[in-house]
Amino acid sequence: MNIHEYQAKALLRSYGIPVSDGRTVMRAEDAKTAAGELDGPLWVVKAQIHAGGRGKGHFKEPEAGEKGGVRLARSVGEAAEFARQMLGRTLVTVQTGPAGKQVNRIYIEDGSDIDREFYLALLIDRKDSRISVVCSTEGGMSIEDVAHDTPEKILSFDIDPATGYSDFHGRRVAFELGLKGNQIKQCSAIMKNLYRMFIEKDMDMLEINPLVVMKDGNLKLLDAKMAFDGNALYRQPDILALKDESEEDPKELAAQKFDLNYITLDGEIGCMVNGAGLAMATMDIIKLYGAEPANFLDVGGGATREKVTEAFKIITSDPNVKGILVNIFGGIMRCDVIAEGVIAAVKEVGLRVPLVVRLEGTNVELGKDIIRNSGLNVIAGDNLADAAQKIVKAVKG
Ligand code: GDP
Ligand code: MG
Repeated sequence: MNIHEYQAKALLRSYGIPVSDGRTVMRAEDAKTAAGELDGPLWVVKAQIHAGGRGKGHFKEPEAGEKGGVRLARSVGEAAEFARQMLGRTLVTVQTGPAGKQVNRIYIEDGSDIDREFYLALLIDRKDSRISVVCSTEGGMSIEDVAHDTPEKILSFDIDPATGYSDFHGRRVAFELGLKGNQIKQCSAIMKNLYRMFIEKDMDMLEINPLVVMKDGNLKLLDAKMAFDGNALYRQPDILALKDESEEDPKELAAQKFDLNYITLDGEIGCMVNGAGLAMATMDIIKLYGAEPANFLDVGGGATREKVTEAFKIITSDPNVKGILVNIFGGIMRCDVIAEGVIAAVKEVGLRVPLVVRLEGTNVELGKDIIRNSGLNVIAGDNLADAAQKIVKAVKG
């Protein structure tokens, strides 16, 4: 799960990590008051969307101004004007894709006088089961470009969870960034608190770009991107409360409500499968026969008819879906329950695209009978390969 920059900064502040003072506004008429509460003489007006690259992004609507989603204002009036221009507009960045994202919130921040910009991130290194630190003197730009053009300017190392964070980790970062004197202490304190926060809050990813040295010599975090482990949210109620549903894929949101493991993908064949392993095998075999899956969907072992119906509705609500493959192995799950769910869903939402159903396991004959007698145009698959070939053929001809 991702959160907004202003929420990430509140969290950083609560860990004693230096960030600027700021105010969030959702209505243009509140922007002037919000900016007026900050000292100036520089204000930073920042579009809050779950995507980076805002500064270099552009708005779809020309009236939002030429510049991107991060703008520097020299007066309260100018800050309020920038906020008004951005609110409700669609911001396109390298991370949003061409469709862009609607800006519903603005964060107005006390501007900092920047001397140097750095990159700093904490990530989970899945291979070593450790938290990795990544830092670079090349801050404020895309780290992917730095990694490509000047990989020697990126330092990366792991922290051993058994011994945890030590000050030498912080000093290693400080020396790589060319910090001096008191800055080294500040860097170490920031690193220590970031590491503690990363663990306590079950984070997946924490990216600070830029971390800056200000003209007065002090360090500050000017941008923050955070992602949290979705499987740990049950024990992070304060983080879960930060979820902005308007930023989530509506299909994935609907799936969460019904406890379905669903992820939207780019292909044309919708899949409904029970079991994560079988779901992955189903996606593989769709690719093997020359098509692409439109989603991953594991309805789980104990799915009810209602759950199957909801799952089917989610799949058919995707305009990219040109065909559906239902692949169920009835172990705990009974094939007749799946069949009833599919039939109920088809009757409710209609069937605009070819549907292939492959059932195997408990009550399989009963399930097949239900589908056969439904009078609906469902293609039966005899086994996984047969079913995959049939749906690919039905979609691709
Ligand atoms: P992003 O484009 O989505 O990554 O948004 P950032 O928050 O990183 O802002 C983009 C750039 O705006 C930064 O790299 C800085 O160069 C600049 N910027 C952000 N905050 C300030 C600030 O307080 N003062 C100044 N002078 N520039 C800022
Ligand atoms: Mg940034």
